[in-house]
Amino acid sequence: MESTFRVQVSKDYLVFASAHFITFKGHQCESLHGHNYRVGVAVEGTVDSECLFVLDFSILKQITRQLVDAIDHKVLLPTLNPKLSFREEGNRVAVDYFGKPTYVFPKTDCALIPIPNSTAEMLAQYLGTQVREELTRRGYSHLTSLELEVEENYGQSATYREALVPD
Ligand SMILES: [Zn+2]
Repeated sequence: MESTFRVQVSKDYLVFASAHFITFKGHQCESLHGHNYRVGVAVEGTVDSECLFVLDFSILKQITRQLVDAIDHKVLLPTLNPKLSFREEGNRVAVDYFGKPTYVFPKTDCALIPIPNSTAEMLAQYLGTQVREELTRRGYSHLTSLELEVEENYGQSATYREALVPD
């Protein structure tokens, strides 16, 4: 029987300090605030017969860091949220909540993310999917699962897990 291993990366540079607000049930909406988010990523699979690792740690770190850096120091805006709408006005992004003008941000300070709410769960799914797509693009097709954790506060995190079908 083939052995399966799990490798995990959680580094001090896999963090992003970003602003967000969540929409709740009905007409409740959080006010804008920030978190020092931390990301951990893990993949499972068999080891390479020559190198004897599942995946070079540096690959996993590099891919994840690029994604994290892209949303660091930004306002995270969930573009698929049905309660919000976004208007680009020159170099600014205006955010309406239930059609009511609520925020205006400099466009360069925004990360427009195709998720329905900027919860730790949806951020984990978004980042996890992006990591998996990049791994696939780079030809790593032997993995059996991927997990991505987003910690929003110390001891408070959400993990997205995806089972993969190896080649
Ligand atoms: Zn929050």
